Amino acid sequence: MPSYAFFKNNMVPIEEAKVSVMTHAFNYGTGVFEGIRAYWNDDQQQLYVFQLAAHYARFLNSCKALMISLPYSVDDLCQITLDLLRREGYKANTYIRPLAYKSSEGIGVRLHDLEADFTVFALPFGKYIEKDECAKVAVSSWRRVDDNAIPARAKIVGAYVNSALAKTEAALNGYDEAIVLTQDGHVSEGSAENFWMVKNGKAITPPVSDNILEGITRQVVREFLQNELGVEVVERTIDRTELYQADEAFFCGTGVEIVGIGEIDRRPVGIGRAGPITRRIRQLYFDAVSGRLPKYLSWCTPVYPEQRATMPRIERKVKVTGK
Ligand code: PMP
Repeated sequence: MPSYAFFKNNMVPIEEAKVSVMTHAFNYGTGVFEGIRAYWNDDQQQLYVFQLAAHYARFLNSCKALMISLPYSVDDLCQITLDLLRREGYKANTYIRPLAYKSSEGIGVRLHDLEADFTVFALPFGKYIEKDECAKVAVSSWRRVDDNAIPARAKIVGAYVNSALAKTEAALNGYDEAIVLTQDGHVSEGSAENFWMVKNGKAITPPVSDNILEGITRQVVREFLQNELGVEVVERTIDRTELYQADEAFFCGTGVEIVGIGEIDRRPVGIGRAGPITRRIRQLYFDAVSGRLPKYLSWCTPVYPEQRATMPRIERKVKVTGK
């Protein structure tokens, strides 16, 4: 459990970060959020937040879609998050969850003339999918939200009912994850992660116009494929049955990290577990996120100042402001 949350412009004990049952976002799903990870590097005694500013840039874009205007810049949001993590004093891999939401209390479906608030909390977090080298995946009977229904490129709270329907159907049918198709039957993504397949040495991923969330990890993977592996990246619409003929397939996302797909709709993918390109991307990813690749250190924001990095948690005195 976290000890603190940033809530109503103050850092408060987590028990005090509560909203009313009348909150607009609770009634209508009118909030946006992010999922950010921080990785503990034991050798350096440092916690690194991965792609912090990129997540908050997307967050403010999601806010635009829901007409939420916050009094914070990307830099403010990064500083609030770093402050929170320092207070928590985590020395473990951590998941960070910022939310911006319509906080007015009352009845009435709309986006305009409503107040909004921002909150963020963080907690230690492990793997999202247990079988991360050979996930069993099925194409969902649920279709991905469409841009003209609920904008898929914004991380909107209410839209995750779509993800939950797909994930639960897959899980209750004995699969690890779902692949969700667009309304016109093309591969969009997983329930909460982007999709890649490898065919004849090329890496293929659906375009941003196929109702994907424009993943930050997807962009990281693209850079690794092109710059580290020299693999050509093709962004194009993918048909369902191409999945059955892929040489490799994997998911990527902040929560899921890099997960190799072993089978799709009960057909083995390639060798039936993470193939060579997937394994190299996984290795690069875990090295990069924990600050072990100097070339990509600019993607990692250190939480603790160097001179305090080795101090035990107990010595960091915490002063809580607010209520
Ligand atoms: N698609 C969906 C629906 C997601 O929820 C996520 C997780 N944020 C992703 C893709 C992957 O995005 P990212 O790499 O930015 O975490």
